[in-house]
Amino acid sequence: MFDVILLATTNRGKYREFSEILTGVLARKLLFAPDAAPLDVEENGATYASNAVLKARAWAAASGLPALADDSGLEVEALGWRPGLFSARAAAGADSDRNRWLLSELYEKAARRASFVADVALAMPEWTLVCEGVCDGRISEAEAGEGGFGYDPLFIPDGFNISFAELPMEIKNKISHRAKAVKALLDSLDSLDSLGKWTAP
Ligand code: IMP
Repeated sequence: MFDVILLATTNRGKYREFSEILTGVLARKLLFAPDAAPLDVEENGATYASNAVLKARAWAAASGLPALADDSGLEVEALGWRPGLFSARAAAGADSDRNRWLLSELYEKAARRASFVADVALAMPEWTLVCEGVCDGRISEAEAGEGGFGYDPLFIPDGFNISFAELPMEIKNKISHRAKAVKALLDSLDSLDSLGKWTAP
């Protein structure tokens, strides 16, 4: 297990989730990027993976610590799988403005399938590992719940009839796109370890 990993995000919602998923599993302590050196990384990659790698490598190089970053988004079938990579900027303002935007885009549309996608990159910093997780569900007709962040009040994961924002955090952190990407990352690290290609600290 790593002593410290820097979480390369300025999003406190993601920090809370990663802390719960990874503390004591991959690292003893997860450092929140804004509490370390400030760094503005331009997310100009064409994929979630390239943006996650860009962020993780930049923060690892700046801090000298292993750094973990994610790039994620919401893909909505009726919108041609938008906003995807642009989810954080789909509409100006706060999360609540973007949720209103999404509801208006889907107004009177019956097809409401959607998926959250997350790519997680760990920069060590000599090499970088990146893995993806997907959580399928649908967009509800109205916001519900106070938990989570972003589009959570509108996203109902498959197998449930309440939103991510209404689900207890422990459940979201077991089934989310981020949890699945982290599981794939931990499995890959285990495989590298058992193949003798990397030694867990
Ligand atoms: P980025 O990864 O910083 O580019 O931002 C991804 C954006 O996608 C966030 O700002 C949210 O709007 C949305 N998003 C990603 N994951 C989640 C989630 O778990 N819940 C709600 N919204 C999310």
